[in-house]
Amino acid sequence: MKRREFIKVSSLLGTSAAVAPPFMLGGCVTNPPPGTGVVSKSPTICDMCFWKCAGEVYKEDGELWKITGNEDDLHSGGRLCTRGTGGPGAYLDRDRLKKPLMRVTVDGRQTFQEVSWDEALHFISEKMQGIAASAGPERLAMLHHGAGGHHFLHLLRAFGSNSHAEPAFAQCRGPRDVGFRLTVGESASSPERTDMANAKCIVLLGSHIGENLHNAQVQTLAEAINKDVTLITVDPRFSVPAGKSKYWLPIKPGTDIALLLAWMNVLISEDLCDTDYLDRYAIGFEQLAEHVREYTPEWVYLETGIRPEVIRETARELAKAAPAAIVHPGRHAVWYGDDTQRSRAIAMLNALLGSWNRKGGFYIPEKVALPEYPIPEYPKPKFSTGDAYPGKWPFASQGVTNGVIDASIGEDAFFKGWLVYGTNLPQSIPAVKDKLRAAANSLDLLVVVETMPSEMTGYADVILPECTYLERYDDLRNSGERHPSLALRMPAFEPKYESKPGWWIAKQLGNRLGLEEYFPWQDYAEKLDWQLQQVGSSLEEMQKIGVKNFPRKYPLYFRDGQRVQFATPSRKIELYSQQLADKGFDPMPVYTPPEPVPSGYYRLNYGRMPAHTFGKTTNNPLLFQLAPENQLWVNPMVANEWSIKNAEYVRLASPSGAISNKIRVRVTERIGPDSVFMAHGFGHKSKRLRLTAGVGADDSELMSNIKIDPIMGSTGMRSNFVTFVKEQA
Ligand code: SF4
Repeated sequence: MKRREFIKVSSLLGTSAAVAPPFMLGGCVTNPPPGTGVVSKSPTICDMCFWKCAGEVYKEDGELWKITGNEDDLHSGGRLCTRGTGGPGAYLDRDRLKKPLMRVTVDGRQTFQEVSWDEALHFISEKMQGIAASAGPERLAMLHHGAGGHHFLHLLRAFGSNSHAEPAFAQCRGPRDVGFRLTVGESASSPERTDMANAKCIVLLGSHIGENLHNAQVQTLAEAINKDVTLITVDPRFSVPAGKSKYWLPIKPGTDIALLLAWMNVLISEDLCDTDYLDRYAIGFEQLAEHVREYTPEWVYLETGIRPEVIRETARELAKAAPAAIVHPGRHAVWYGDDTQRSRAIAMLNALLGSWNRKGGFYIPEKVALPEYPIPEYPKPKFSTGDAYPGKWPFASQGVTNGVIDASIGEDAFFKGWLVYGTNLPQSIPAVKDKLRAAANSLDLLVVVETMPSEMTGYADVILPECTYLERYDDLRNSGERHPSLALRMPAFEPKYESKPGWWIAKQLGNRLGLEEYFPWQDYAEKLDWQLQQVGSSLEEMQKIGVKNFPRKYPLYFRDGQRVQFATPSRKIELYSQQLADKGFDPMPVYTPPEPVPSGYYRLNYGRMPAHTFGKTTNNPLLFQLAPENQLWVNPMVANEWSIKNAEYVRLASPSGAISNKIRVRVTERIGPDSVFMAHGFGHKSKRLRLTAGVGADDSELMSNIKIDPIMGSTGMRSNFVTFVKEQA
C-alpha cells in the first residue's frame, strides 16, 4: 500500500468504544491529599523541553504527587520552570497513545487498527530489510527531536544508515551554530555558554528570555539584572525583557544585520575594540574595518529606525563593559534567509569586544569524560544525508529536514523510508503539508514513534506508542556547561497502557534485524550502570542522588595572554571568511533590506509563551489550564482601522489564501502597526488531542513565503504576511 490517506488517529478500528474516562483537571495532585500518605521519590530529567533540568518525582502511596527540581542540580539552579512542574500532566494525559497502531484498508477506506507489538515490529523490520535489500540501508532516514531519539539513531547507525535530520537545526538554531563555527570555530552550545551572571552589558537581539523559559538562562539573566547589568533589548515588540531593559530598540523587522554592522562601525571608528584580543586571536580586521565603513549610524537609521545617537550610545555601553559584554546569540535564529550571516555578525561583534571565552562574556563548556558502552563499530554508510540534495547548502553541519523531505518525493526518490521520532513535522516545518502527503505517498515505510497523537501520526504506516519520560530510562545527561555533571532519568512508574520505552523499542527492532550485538544489554539500566562505574559512580548511587557534580579539569575562561588555536582553517577567529568566499558567498555579512509589507497586510511574527513548549505541551491538562490558547497581538491603530475589539476572535489569511483557525485578539501598544504576533504551537487539527484541537491559530499554516539560507539550508519564516478575516456575527 503506497497511497496514504491522512488518517485522524480518532478514526481507530475497534477502539471507539474503549475511550478512557475524561481526565479530571487537577485531579492528579489531590488524591490522596498531600501529607497523609507514604511519600517516596525518584530522580528524573525533565522532558517538557530540551533543556534537561534534573528533577525529583514524588509519589504518595504510590500515586504521582508532584515533580520538583533537584536542589543539587547546578544546570537548573535546583528549580523547574512552569512547564517542568506540569510534567505530571504528560503522564496523566487521557489522550496518550496507548497501543501500536497500523494503517489498514477496510471497505476501501484507510484507517488505523490496534495491533500487538509483535505484529508492529515484524511489519517494520520486514520493510526495513526490504529497503536495505532493494536500495541500501542509507535510504532509510530518520527525522527526530529530543534526547530520546538517541535510541533510534543508534538503531539507524547499526542498520547502516546515517541519514537523519532534526527540525531543531534548519528550523531553529542551525544558522546560529554554523555562523559561530565559521567565525570562532565552535557553536554557541546548548545550553548557551553565555556568562550572563557576570556580564556588565547584555544585548538581546530578537531573543525573548523570560517568554522562552529556558530555566537556568532565565535565572542567570535575573541575577545579572539584580546586579544592575545594562540590558539592551532589540525587538520590534515590547517583550518581557524589553520591560526590564535600560534600552529598548524597537527595530524595523528584518534589519538586524544593518544594526550589527553599524555597531561594528562605531566600535572600529571610535577605537573601542579590544585590540590586544584581536591582534592575538583574529584575522581579517582590516577587511572588516573597510567593509563596515559605509554602515554609519546615520545611514543605518534610515533602515532600522534606530536613531544614530542611540546606536552610538549603546555601542559605547558595550565597549565600556567589554569583555564582560554579551551580544546574545539567541536560539531560534531563522528569520529572513540571511541568517547564517546575521549570526556571524553577532559572533564578530562579540569578537571585537573580546568577549568570546572571557569572564562576563562566554565561558568554555566542559563535559564529564563518560565512556560509551562497548559495541562493535557501526557499518560505514555509502551515502550521507547531504548526498540526497547534492550541491546544496555547503555549510550545513547536520541533515536539513526540508532537504530530506524533498528527497523523499516521487518513484525515484532518494529516501525510501522514514523513522519519525518526537517531532510533529506539519507544525515544525513551514508550508510542508502538500510535500508531506507526496512523501507519504512515495515512501515504502513511514513509522512514527510518539507519546501523543499529532498531525504527523496521521501520515504513518505504523504508530509506536512510547511511554513518557516518567516511565523510562534514557541516556545520562552529560551536557557541556559551566559545571560538568551527570543526571539520571529513571522510571518512577511502569509504562501505562501498552506504551514502551524507546530503548526497548529500538532493541526489539535491532533483534529482529539481526543486530543483537549492538544491543547487548538486557535492560537499559545495565548499560547506564556500566557507564557510571567507569566514572566512579553507579546506578545505585544515581538512583539515590539523581545528579552528580564533577570538578572542572580545565579553566572556565581564556587565561591572560593564553595561546589558543581556534577550530577554523586559519586557527584564528575569522572576521573575514575565506571559507565562505571560496564557495561564492560574501566573506563578511552584507545587509539586504527585507521585502516590504504588501498593502493591507502585516508581518506575521511568532514566538513562545512561558507555559508551553510549542505544540508539545498544549494538550497537557495542567498547562492547558494555565494557557489554553494563543492570542494575536494587534496594535491599537490597526485594531481601530479594522474595527477589531480587544478579546474579539478573528481569523487570519495569507497572500496564498490559507485561512487560520480563530484566534483571540489582544490589542496592545507593545507591537508596532506593521506587524502582528502570536505564540507558536496552537491550532492543532488532530481531534484526538481533545483539549487543544481547534483551539487558537497555527502560524505555520499561514506561511508560504519561505527564505532558504543558501549557506546551510535553514528556513527563514519571518518573511510572511497576513491580513484579517473578520468573523461573521
Ligand atoms: S526549562 Fe522547564 S521545561 Fe525545560 S527542561 Fe527545564 S524545567 Fe523542564
